[in-house]
Formats: sequence, C-alpha cells, structure tokens
Amino acid sequence: MTKTGLVYDDLYLKHNTGSNHPERAQRLTAIINMLEGAGLLDKLLHIEPVPAERSIVELCHESSYIDRFQRAVESSAPFLDTPECPLSPATFETAICAAGGILAGIDNVMQGNIKNCFCAVRPPGHHAERSKAMGFCYFNNIAIAAKYLQKKYAIERIVIIDWDVHHGNGTQHTFEQNPAVFYISFHQNPLTCYPGTGRASETGTGKGQGYTLNFPMPPGAGNQEYFQAMETVEQEMKKFRPLFVLISAGFDAHTDDPLAQIRLTTEGYKTLTRKVKGIAEDHAEGRLVSMLEGGYNLQALGESVETHVQALLEG
Ligand SMILES: [Zn+2]
Repeated sequence: MTKTGLVYDDLYLKHNTGSNHPERAQRLTAIINMLEGAGLLDKLLHIEPVPAERSIVELCHESSYIDRFQRAVESSAPFLDTPECPLSPATFETAICAAGGILAGIDNVMQGNIKNCFCAVRPPGHHAERSKAMGFCYFNNIAIAAKYLQKKYAIERIVIIDWDVHHGNGTQHTFEQNPAVFYISFHQNPLTCYPGTGRASETGTGKGQGYTLNFPMPPGAGNQEYFQAMETVEQEMKKFRPLFVLISAGFDAHTDDPLAQIRLTTEGYKTLTRKVKGIAEDHAEGRLVSMLEGGYNLQALGESVETHVQALLEG
C-alpha cells in the first residue's frame, strides 16, 4: 500500500494573479518538477480534486461572501476585497477545488487508502476570514478541512499546526472559541510581519481558552527556536490527544524566502515534519493531511516540499 497521497491537478495553475505577484502558478510547477526529479511522484497515491460542496464551504464562510466572490469573478472585477487578492476568470473555480482537493485527501485517509497526504494546492487559505479575502487567500482551506472532519467523520479533537511564516488569522478566528480544534501557529513576530495578529497572549476565548497557542518568532530565528517550541507542542498534545493532525504548510519561513526574515533550512522543514508526524503517530494512528500555504522562493519551496514529502513517506 502506498502510504502517502498527493493532491494535485493542473487546474490549480489556472488562478492567474498577473505579473509580479509572489503567489503564482509557477510555485506548483516548481513543486511537481522537484517531486518528479526526486523520483517521488511514483511513490505517491495521486488524488484528483473535486469542487468542495457549497454546504461545506458555508461551514466557514458566509453565504453572501461566497456569492460576492463568484459575482466579482463573473463581472471581471480586478480583485476581491484587497488588491493582493487579484481575480482571474478561473479564480473562483480554482479556490473551490483547492478546498475540495483537501477534502478528497481527508476522505482517502479516513477510508484507510493512505496514512497521510500532501495537498499541492493554490490559492492558499489561512488568512481568509469568514467574509473577507486577505493575504492571497479566498477560502480558508484548512478551516474548511477541520469543519469537514467534524461534520462528516465526527472527529472529536483536531489539531491544526500552522508553520507558515505569517500568522493564520482566519484559522485562529474560526476556532478560537472551539475547544475541539486546537490551533497552533509558528510565525514571525506580528510586530514585524503581516498580518499583525498572533501574539503569545492570544490563547483562545470562552470555552476555547487554552486551545490556541501562538509562537511569535523574532526575525532571524531558525531551526533551534522552532524545535524548542515543538517540545512545548508535544507536551500540549499529550494532554489534548488529537485524533487528526492538519498542517498549514507554508514554506515561507525558509531562510531564502523573500517575504520574511525567519531562517528555517530545508533540513529544518524535514525535522519539523518528522516531529508533527510523530504527534500524529502517537495520538491519531498517523492520520495527517498537510496543505500548501505560502513559500515564494521557487527553489527553496521545491526543495522544502520534496523533503517534507520524503519525511511523510518514511517508515
Ligand atoms: Zn505566508
């Protein structure tokens, strides 16, 4: 049995962000070329995306927002909510299929076809709020994934580990009152980096108090700081005992990334992957789905995803 799945389809290249936008189709081409060159594509179960059902997207987004997004594309509006979220004719379809691809990955894990899965999708999702596009994100893919796990499979405890260099404001806001979805984010200090949320003092609200954990990292932090924070995460997870692990896998904390000043190495991403996979193995029978968020240096992105997928395939 193949242990690891890959969600990818050429349709993810169709969301056109124009020239000079860092979140561009070549990111996925670089990833697929790197996986192919490393001989990894043949070792992965290829999973075809399907569009996410609207009722599932509505678990995280206002119906009026979904309509507004669709109408903006149909009327050839240049962007949704903010110029950093440009629109092209295929943007809505691509975003629906990014979320849907991840749900297909989850179904394959839950059906036992694979243990874990990497989803090479775009656009990314973790900045998208309930009714607002932000930071290259339109639908919050990982939040939709967690809600789907709760609704379709009644998974009682889910952890989302977000190592994108930017704080996942949309994901945190979706679950900050929810003790069943533990949100953990490593990101560059919000005083120095977009979007400005994610202070260590943000630990959840109401019943969700204690189920949000933020690790703001100073510019220049790297492998050692991240590995040390992971020790805290491992201790927290012994108490929480997640039954499914989701990763918001941004590779823009890489030392070569142009958008931030964190210094994780390619090997650092491999170690992080092994540690998170260890959490899944200790508590969730290995059930893990990782999805692409950021990562804007094509070489560093390709190499980091290669090492990430290698670690998912191990043992
Ligand atoms: Zn990012």
